[in-house]
Amino acid sequence: MNNLDIKSLSLEELKEALKKLGQPAYRAKQIFEWLHSKLITDYDEMTNLSKKLREDLKETFPLITLEKVDSLHSENDETVKFLFRLMDNRVIESVLMKYHYGNSVCISSQVGCRMGCKFCASTIGGKERDLLPSEMLDQIYRIQRLSGERVSHVVIMGTGEPFDNYDNLMRFLRLLTDPIGLNLSARNITVSTCGIPDRIRAFAEEGMPITLALSLHAPNNEIRKKLMPVAMQYDLSEVMDAFRYYYEKTGRRLTFEYSMVEGINDEEAHAKELSSLIKGLNCHVNLIPVNPIKERNFRQTESRRIQNFKNILEKNRINVTIRREMGADINAACGQLRKSYMDKN
Ligand code: SAH
Repeated sequence: MNNLDIKSLSLEELKEALKKLGQPAYRAKQIFEWLHSKLITDYDEMTNLSKKLREDLKETFPLITLEKVDSLHSENDETVKFLFRLMDNRVIESVLMKYHYGNSVCISSQVGCRMGCKFCASTIGGKERDLLPSEMLDQIYRIQRLSGERVSHVVIMGTGEPFDNYDNLMRFLRLLTDPIGLNLSARNITVSTCGIPDRIRAFAEEGMPITLALSLHAPNNEIRKKLMPVAMQYDLSEVMDAFRYYYEKTGRRLTFEYSMVEGINDEEAHAKELSSLIKGLNCHVNLIPVNPIKERNFRQTESRRIQNFKNILEKNRINVTIRREMGADINAACGQLRKSYMDKN
């Protein structure tokens, strides 16, 4: 971690850093609030600091902020997709979704992704780099300021594998839930992973009641391998053991994501197999009609069959919902907007 990236520093670290500039501890608190609660984008907005101090801060801690390149508003619902430019000119995407319970922002955790899931647009160019804690935070901060809407929920479900950027993820989560920052409740945060067992176990030990979602997408390892290269590395039983461990440690209900792909994972027999795989777990299954991307020829399971799949799970007393396809008209599938921007430029 770069100690000069001021927005990635905890309050304690900021106190230390400012001591070197001869500043008292209460200044650190003021600056932390400007950054993480008032969400300023320029030191000159810190009006209770002297001009001299603002200049010193600019010199010592150049502020990392995201610049909005584009935003797309869905016509079907109130989903807004944002494209942001990072300081090194790379672009990432984030999504604002309005629900009856509040406003949820879906953020990216990496620029690109190296996990290689077959149906996912984010992985096509591979991983370019990890995002810094400040860059994860700023997606939320910018959206809250640009939209004027208070963000109450965050899902780490955009481009990237959060557990492939573990240390930055944890720092980001601690800052996001900091009482003098945006102060989000850990219960309103969901981390989605393709399933890396040792990281799931480490995450269980962090003492944060965050909802964990596992991208399952298959009822067994054979089918999973066809869709997700990560299944070659870790057997499904190892992933499930780690996931169960997460529940034991945190008591948080587990979420499974299951993208339905025609002819691959959508048969009745798969629904039955899935039911026995997760039987007895306190869990919820999200069935997601796969969002076709032009680089691959996967097709969505038709809705009647998805409904039938759902009925089978329900007969086995499993909580299940079919995810609404929010913002499908604005390329809302993982990585699609970024990919089309990069193809053009
Ligand atoms: N790497 C993490 C988080 C990012 S992906 C993970 O794997 O969970 C977020 C979710 O969207 C995952 O469940 C992923 O499998 C799914 N996804 C990605 N592309 C999709 C597509 N084209 N259609 C449906 N679901 C997709």
